[in-house]
Amino acid sequence: MNIAIDGPAGAGKSTVARKVAEQLGYIYIDTGAMYRAVTLSALRNRISPGDAAALAKHTESVRIRLQPGENGQLVFLNDEDVTDLIRSRDVTLLVSKVAANETVRSVLTDMQRKLADRKGVVMDGRDIGTSVLPDAELKIFLTASVQERARRRFRESGIQQGVTVEQLEKEIAERDRLDAEREVSPLVCADDAIVIDSTSMPIEEVVQSIVALSRT
Ligand code: C5P
Repeated sequence: MNIAIDGPAGAGKSTVARKVAEQLGYIYIDTGAMYRAVTLSALRNRISPGDAAALAKHTESVRIRLQPGENGQLVFLNDEDVTDLIRSRDVTLLVSKVAANETVRSVLTDMQRKLADRKGVVMDGRDIGTSVLPDAELKIFLTASVQERARRRFRESGIQQGVTVEQLEKEIAERDRLDAEREVSPLVCADDAIVIDSTSMPIEEVVQSIVALSRT
């Protein structure tokens, strides 16, 4: 069984997807990490997301590998562990522009489909239910108010990064806008997805509802 969990930035998809996978004994795949790894590589090689041809060519040459780790998924870029580096603010501020590139999306979508081929996966992202795994047996669209999503991000990493909750809210809203307005596989709720609004719901409750839905 494949479970797709999509939704806007900071809705708690990764935490929820990881816990659901743990409980069901499935593989967890964070597709956002793959877009972040390509973005890190483009930044290091001074490739602008505006240069679509250069970005496309570069993406075809990078090797991205995901591996389960003790505290979640590890991400390797050409065999270098970039798990922490891909969470930097520089990457976060640029990733949606990189993710709008058609070749970037088709290269990563192919990789994601191959990963799902093996056995049951819980995959989180923006276009899993609509584009990557349209036949997934269970599709969840996880959302929360933008204010609540900004507050959660602030608690996780805002203090260390020296940003305010208001700044985070603006950045999250801008990322959602870019993700929803891009031409290729935009962020949109699949017709057959179940919407869960986690604004005032503890993460554990969200996890239990998805596990229960997977058993019906
Ligand atoms: O999930 P996360 O916030 O780490 O994703 C980072 C970015 O990667 C998103 O804002 C989006 O631009 C892109 N992304 C995407 N499609 C996915 C997963 C992530 O476009 N399936």
